[in-house]
Amino acid sequence: MTTIHCAYDEEIANNLMDYLNKKGEDSTREKDRVFTKNKVRKTTLDKFLDESELDGYSVMLSEPDTFIVAKKTSVEDFGLAQCEICGYVAFDEELFAHRRAHGI
Ligand SMILES: [Zn+2]
Repeated sequence: MTTIHCAYDEEIANNLMDYLNKKGEDSTREKDRVFTKNKVRKTTLDKFLDESELDGYSVMLSEPDTFIVAKKTSVEDFGLAQCEICGYVAFDEELFAHRRAHGI
């Protein structure tokens, strides 16, 4: 299962769910989150953003099976930041420990 967090944007979540279901995925939505039965690749989500012409949005990996789809600015509003090395997204404190694992 993959969770895709659309950072409080229920409209995008709804469009994403429709998109995935059209692609043959079995997905459901709960508010701003989309859940899929199977693992979804990042490239699929990138394609969704491309085809929906959602400029400024990006797909970020948060936990192993969780993606965040949001504008970079809303991710920051959310209290999240992104690792410069691998793109991992987490809350500041967690990211601090994460960066140390890279040897920063
Ligand atoms: Zn990293």
